[in-house]
Amino acid sequence: MRKEELTFWEQLYIPQIYEGLKVTARHFFKNMKGHIARLLGRPVKDDETVTIQYPEERRPLSPRLRSLHRLVKRADGTPRCVACMMCETICPARCIYIVAAEHPNPDIEKRPARFDIDLGKCIFCGYCVEACPEDAIRMDTGILEFAAYTRQDMIYTMERLLAHEPMKITSQG
Ligand code: SF4
Ligand code: SF4
Repeated sequence: MRKEELTFWEQLYIPQIYEGLKVTARHFFKNMKGHIARLLGRPVKDDETVTIQYPEERRPLSPRLRSLHRLVKRADGTPRCVACMMCETICPARCIYIVAAEHPNPDIEKRPARFDIDLGKCIFCGYCVEACPEDAIRMDTGILEFAAYTRQDMIYTMERLLAHEPMKITSQG
């Protein structure tokens, strides 16, 4: 393949640098206009990129959002889960660990003696929620920030999962 020789003018790269700066400046001023309009409470055009000042400012979350899991409680505070293992079986990341035990109530066959989710492995596919025949696990807490310093802290035990509450929907995203 023949290599094209660059002309002296092309070797200077000045037109290319100028073109790049032109594009950057165009976007800069357009977006700044959007920011000012937003500060003044005016509508922002669709093609203006306005950065949300996270974490002070947050976008409203969609009710369909898959966020951190929670285990649904019965009226007496015990987990609704019947340890059927459907979620553990379907989980593609293999990050649910359940140990089943006899339920004290003879009408309910089993209960989870242990129910851990390793959030360090979870891919937030939502299959566990879909597979549950008891609607005992949900991903509607709205919690998106759960970084931890150790892998161990990323393992959410049954107690932690039961303590989560559903998010309060204020407006749809
Ligand atoms: S969301 Fe998906 S990966 Fe995470 S625990 Fe549920 S099934 Fe497993
Ligand atoms: S699928 Fe539902 S009921 Fe079955 S073990 Fe999982 S959370 Fe419990």
